[in-house]
Amino acid sequence: MSRRRQIYEGKAKILYEGPEPGTIIQYFKDDATAFNAEKKGTINGKGVINNRISEYVFTRLSHIGIPTHFIRRLNMREQLVRQVEIIPLEVVVRNVAAGSLSKRLGIEEGEVLPHTLIEYCYKDDGLGDPKVSEEEIACFNWCSHEEMQDMSSMAIRINDFLSGMFSAIDIRLVDFKLEFGRIWDGDFSRVILADEISPDGCRLWDINTGEKLDKDRFRRDLGGESEAYQEVARRLGLLQNEDNGPGEVLDMNAHRGRLRTPAKPAKK
Ligand code: C5P
Repeated sequence: MSRRRQIYEGKAKILYEGPEPGTIIQYFKDDATAFNAEKKGTINGKGVINNRISEYVFTRLSHIGIPTHFIRRLNMREQLVRQVEIIPLEVVVRNVAAGSLSKRLGIEEGEVLPHTLIEYCYKDDGLGDPKVSEEEIACFNWCSHEEMQDMSSMAIRINDFLSGMFSAIDIRLVDFKLEFGRIWDGDFSRVILADEISPDGCRLWDINTGEKLDKDRFRRDLGGESEAYQEVARRLGLLQNEDNGPGEVLDMNAHRGRLRTPAKPAKK
């Protein structure tokens, strides 16, 4: 079999040329990085879980009319997606204060925000993905005014949908990051959702205990990161359940364990 051409290797994924023009294969690695790759490690089975969770989330989002790059999952670690011209912005949506917002503005983690905040960061590893204003985005032409409007309205719809989806499984969607890309049709382009949505790029807290079920377990050395990711997949119905016989896609029961840190009481 001929080897596929690698297009790009990122921190958590490798991109290969797809089988047809305009397609790409996303390979999900177990590698984990934090603080602009100053901290590096591995979360066992993360790639498999994120591939499956992202497939599920993108499929659900397409059902509510969000255009996405996702075509189909190919195997445990790979999915076929549409090739896009990536917009060099990270769109961060926040419902609850945490992470860099809490640090920057001194707002206690866990404080519910009076309304949802959208932030934009310029995608540049060398600069540490700095937060940028809409004025700066327009000034440096990272995307057009219409594209900004499309991205922000999609981000709000995605947030509403995902907040409900996670709340139904007792998970609080604290914040998350989205990436978008352009696809071209002749001279015209439109913006679609790209990259992935998984516990790598979301803060997900258990509604009852406040337990973190996301990459903050790795960032903050809490331990139990594989188990936390599996817990999210399990609650979404994506993992084989002991009682239900063979799982549809994943068989990770062998690797399942309890979260290693004790449950903390939920903040306010
Ligand atoms: O670090 P910060 O609080 O700004 O992160 C907000 C959200 O965006 C978190 O859910 C985090 O996982 C996600 N994020 C990300 N990739 C980045 C920056 C933030 O996935 N480069």
